[in-house]
Amino acid sequence: MVIGAGVLGASVAVRLARAGMQVTLLDQDEPGHGTSRWSFAWVNSNDKGPRPYHDLNHAGIRAWAELAPGLDGAAWYRPAGNLELATSDSGRAELSARIDRLAGWGYPARLIDAAEAAELEPALLLPDPAATIAWFPGEAYLLTEPLIERLVAYLTSQGGTVLTGEPGRVIGLNAGPGDTPRIRTADGAVLEADEVVCCAGRWTPGLAALAGAADTVPLVPWDTPGSPAPALVVRVGPVTPQGPVRLIHTPQIALRPHSGGLLHLEAPDMPVDLNTPEAELNRLAGELLNRTRRTVRSLDQARVVAAQVCVRPLPADEQSIVGRLPGAEWLYVAVTHSGVTLAAHLSRLIAADLAPGAPSAELAAYRPGRFAGTAVQITGPATGR
Ligand SMILES: Cc1cc2nc3c(=O)[nH]c(=O)nc-3n(C[C@H](O)[C@H](O)[C@H](O)COP(=O)(O)OP(=O)(O)OC[C@H]3O[C@@H](n4cnc5c(N)ncnc54)[C@H](O)[C@@H]3O)c2cc1C
Repeated sequence: MVIGAGVLGASVAVRLARAGMQVTLLDQDEPGHGTSRWSFAWVNSNDKGPRPYHDLNHAGIRAWAELAPGLDGAAWYRPAGNLELATSDSGRAELSARIDRLAGWGYPARLIDAAEAAELEPALLLPDPAATIAWFPGEAYLLTEPLIERLVAYLTSQGGTVLTGEPGRVIGLNAGPGDTPRIRTADGAVLEADEVVCCAGRWTPGLAALAGAADTVPLVPWDTPGSPAPALVVRVGPVTPQGPVRLIHTPQIALRPHSGGLLHLEAPDMPVDLNTPEAELNRLAGELLNRTRRTVRSLDQARVVAAQVCVRPLPADEQSIVGRLPGAEWLYVAVTHSGVTLAAHLSRLIAADLAPGAPSAELAAYRPGRFAGTAVQITGPATGR
């Protein structure tokens, strides 16, 4: 049984089905309508540490490349590469140092000149001829809606079951005789399973609380003022056919192509929360469109078509939380930021972890037990990283 049909839960469900398990995937909503729907969905290990976490994300990049050919990747996999521009002295120094570090770790990353940048991305307007420009050819983005559609279709083709709405909404979790997990759903059903994997994204602490293990999954709270968890996501269009084809990051804007002839935009300096009034969201979205017009060609006719506040499932120490919950070992959780980057690889590790035999050594650093008895230090990510 897998709770949550976002990119992570749908990937886990597919891996478990491939391992020969009979899988039921539950979601209170339609599959893919949680955080995954609005994610920047940049597949990268561009600025992630420490080294083992970088390696985990790097493996995530490779895992999507491996999965794409067998899962209609043309519909959702975009190995477009990423261009990053730095314009301030400190930004240039940080970018150059990062390139050195990443290249030393075997991660495709190099500095390029303006001519090469123009060749790679003809839509780019170079804001500053002295900008330092970096090229990350191995990075990609995913279109999560068609991806999750295909994961769910694959699951059902293998005999899996998908329950959504009230039959999929989990309102009770406990262990029956012999520690057999039991799930109660909003339509009154009680389901039993050999294993329950909870991939409920930002809702995971609430589900852990249902299981009596409330404090074992500390996420950055999204409802406190100044929290780094909520972010503004903006989609603009139409974009002309000469529009950008790659991920682009500047100090003011992060953008990538989106389906339907749109661009997906984010920025690091847009303080919003779930209570930000619509008028303010629209003002900020207009500001993002203006910044994008200064960064790329092809937006003459563009307007804002969506401005959405979206919440990152952000573990308190920024590292994934994966494994059985202390005090409720019958419940296995997987919650992470960078879930789009990580889902293809992490789901493979989780399926191996649940199979008979030794637990996955690669997951040892990410077990929920690491938070036991510690005062949790809350940190936060840069945009989309
Ligand atoms: C603005 C923004 C930008 C981001 N950029 C990137 C990026 O560039 N690259 C990257 O790798 N990551 C990025 N992330 C993070 C990434 O999007 C998430 O880590 C990932 O989408 C999480 O997927 P998930 O499947 O765990 O959660 P979700 O997609 O949220 O899925 C969880 C599901 O659980 C369901 N659920 C919740 N409670 C219940 C219940 N009681 N019963 C049944 N179902 C339930 C929900 O309905 C939902 O469908 C970004 C996030 C945000 C917000």
